[in-house]
Amino acid sequence: MTLVTKSSYVDGAFIPLGSSADILENRNPSHPGEVVERFERAGQVLTEQAIAAARRAQPAWARSNPQQRADALDFIGTEILARREELATLLAREEGKVVREALGEVDRAGRSFKFYAQEALRAEGEKYQSVRQDVAIDVFSQPLGVVGIIAPWNFPIAIPAWKIAPALCFGNCVVFKPAELVPSSAWALAEIISRAGLPAGVFNMLIGPGRSVGDTIIRSPLVDGISFTGSEHTGRQIARLAAEGMKKVQLEMGGKNPLIVLDDADLEQAVEVALNGSFYSTGQRCTASSRVIVTAGIHDAFVARLAERTRALQVGDALQAGTDIGPVVDSRQLEQNLSYVAAGLEQGAKLECGGERIDSPAGAYFFTPALFTEVTAGMRIYREEIFGPVLSVLKVRDYEEAFTAAEDTAFGLSAGIVTTSLRHAEHFKRHSSAGMVMVNLPTAGVDYHVPFGGNGASSLGSREQGTHARQFFTRVKTTYQLA
Ligand code: NAD
Repeated sequence: MTLVTKSSYVDGAFIPLGSSADILENRNPSHPGEVVERFERAGQVLTEQAIAAARRAQPAWARSNPQQRADALDFIGTEILARREELATLLAREEGKVVREALGEVDRAGRSFKFYAQEALRAEGEKYQSVRQDVAIDVFSQPLGVVGIIAPWNFPIAIPAWKIAPALCFGNCVVFKPAELVPSSAWALAEIISRAGLPAGVFNMLIGPGRSVGDTIIRSPLVDGISFTGSEHTGRQIARLAAEGMKKVQLEMGGKNPLIVLDDADLEQAVEVALNGSFYSTGQRCTASSRVIVTAGIHDAFVARLAERTRALQVGDALQAGTDIGPVVDSRQLEQNLSYVAAGLEQGAKLECGGERIDSPAGAYFFTPALFTEVTAGMRIYREEIFGPVLSVLKVRDYEEAFTAAEDTAFGLSAGIVTTSLRHAEHFKRHSSAGMVMVNLPTAGVDYHVPFGGNGASSLGSREQGTHARQFFTRVKTTYQLA
């Protein structure tokens, strides 16, 4: 296969090759020796050019006909869905997600664009009667302006899609920076967007590091808002800088999502929900359940069956049929998983299975899903986000103790319960402080047309996705008119 070199997209064109000597090699975590594609990195100067182009294009795009925006978004969604297998294979090669999951992610990206194609046409606004005689009041929303979109590596096409689509839909210009571990899906998306009929400057994509490209976007006075998904550490940094620059921010960060399993649960259903939510996508989902809180009556049977199912999972090449769990994304994340396994053992948890690197001739980052029991609430594996397939099981007495344990975290993204009790399900839905609550479903796996987001250290700002995305990507204007 010929190795291709690609570049950033700025002001309506891909930057000519040879503009930068700084080369990024995108590697396949199933075969780290294999370079998927090469990219010329953008730096601060190109980032400033992209922001300036977005600023120039913004006033006209803000006034663009909704049909123009709807047609462009529909074009992008249609092409993503038509090329789903090719894009999913690319995604699996660069990120390590198995093809079945990659297909789901690509579909979600395509459907997000299709959803916002319709949303662009939705009439919006409110009319009020003034408290003053003969004055009419109109309230409506206007585009936020130029938005910086900064994405993580674990959903290389769906997260960019669910931010870029509403941004464009509501009349904003975009400066998008994907994570350096997954530039190929981002480039493929940008290439489709480049043919959607958008005026130059409306959409820009920069491939480069957070510390230069990302930092320049965040600090620029020409950028009105930042929509970020990534780690809590980076999110906090962005929040501080955005506050200084008086920018609107939307931050989606980490999680330590609990799943409660009660005595009255269907055992097979509980095991399936835990297995899926904790280990699929190699545990690299912000909504993954990394804590399972189990009441005493079902605990031993649940652990025995979950360990049996976990041992049977096939860890291997993301592109190979029959693989359940693909590789960890890179060597750094693999080291992090292994160090948490060591910390769990050191602090006295019992490793029921997994937690080891699998040797492969290609040096792949294969890691067997780890199941810990005899966990206590103070242990690091129970408290900190690992972002890998490492699950801690906490044994509790009853629902009340389980609920208290589930709430015992600074995060608040997703939470789940497996039960046949309507009373406990209803109580949990109503009182859990997570932003998304699942009953008899995995904590991970959400729809694309409804709000997505959490509370506490997991999220800041208004919700992503669905009609709620309008809140971030627009500003509200109130007008008064004397009749
Ligand atoms: P990360 O914070 O390291 O990087 C995210 C993005 O920020 C990347 O594009 C990176 O280049 C950029 N970046 C890094 N430093 C920056 C800086 N100083 N200024 C500007 N940009 C900078 O996160 P990651 O490792 O890519 O992703 C994993 C994390 O993302 C996990 O914590 C996970 O929970 C979280 N995540 C959250 C959600 C959610 O919706 N809540 C979804 C997916 C992932």
